[in-house]
Amino acid sequence: MAVVTLLMVLFVGCVLTAQYVIVRLQPGSISNELRTWLASAQEDEQQKQQAYLHESMDTMAKRLGQMQARLLRLDTLGARLAKMTGMKPQEFSFDQLPAQGGPYNPVAQQADVTLDAMDQQLASLSTLLSDRSDKLLALETLLMQDSLSKRMLPSVAPITEGWYSSNFGWRIDPFTGKNAMHEGVDYMVQAGTPIYASAGGVVVYADYHSQYGNMVEIDHGNDIITRYAHASKLLTKVGAVVRRGQEIAKVGSTGRSTGNHLHFEVRYKGLAQNPVRFLQKAAS
Ligand SMILES: [Zn+2]
Repeated sequence: MAVVTLLMVLFVGCVLTAQYVIVRLQPGSISNELRTWLASAQEDEQQKQQAYLHESMDTMAKRLGQMQARLLRLDTLGARLAKMTGMKPQEFSFDQLPAQGGPYNPVAQQADVTLDAMDQQLASLSTLLSDRSDKLLALETLLMQDSLSKRMLPSVAPITEGWYSSNFGWRIDPFTGKNAMHEGVDYMVQAGTPIYASAGGVVVYADYHSQYGNMVEIDHGNDIITRYAHASKLLTKVGAVVRRGQEIAKVGSTGRSTGNHLHFEVRYKGLAQNPVRFLQKAAS
């Protein structure tokens, strides 16, 4: 009897133990499996994200490299322009290397650029770019001033005494009484008053003209010419090279004129311009 009882107790113990094991351990093994599966899925996702990040970083690095290359070209252009305008390139420090130092890498060589480093590089590059554009703008202004003087604009008044009537434009023609375009300005001065070349150039006309009377026409290059009409006397001839301010004729009343005066014209590409615009440019 005692043996049977012992066996019963052992059996019940075994069943209980098995049940305990089934209840306690089975869910544990499921959660482990799940954990492993979840972990691998997470790792997958992480790898994908990392690959994506890597790819974008590579793209950004490539872009950064291209920007640096562009800056390098800007520097070369700037240095060349500085040389052309007679400026010292070091004044503009176009040769200066980026703040971070080291030579430019047109294509980023390091594959593993950190986001922080990239950010830093972008910030410094942006500073450099705005600095360069400021300098290039300053150079452009200089170049424009330079080319203006090179164009030999008629900025010197052809008459230094008396007064002139800035009557460029539409007016009643003194001969016909009809509205007509007056293509220059008139200087009301005495006969014999010296007429000066408004800018340097080559005399292309120095003769009598039925309308303009004795007239000098000077070619200043860049499609700009000046005309000095109704002179009493011409002091130059075709082909002569005249300096700015050189006396070229004397005031008179020849041709289609009602009295002693100088009729002064400035033409650009054959079209009459208001000479006052050019003369004022010199004054300012
Ligand atoms: Zn006139």
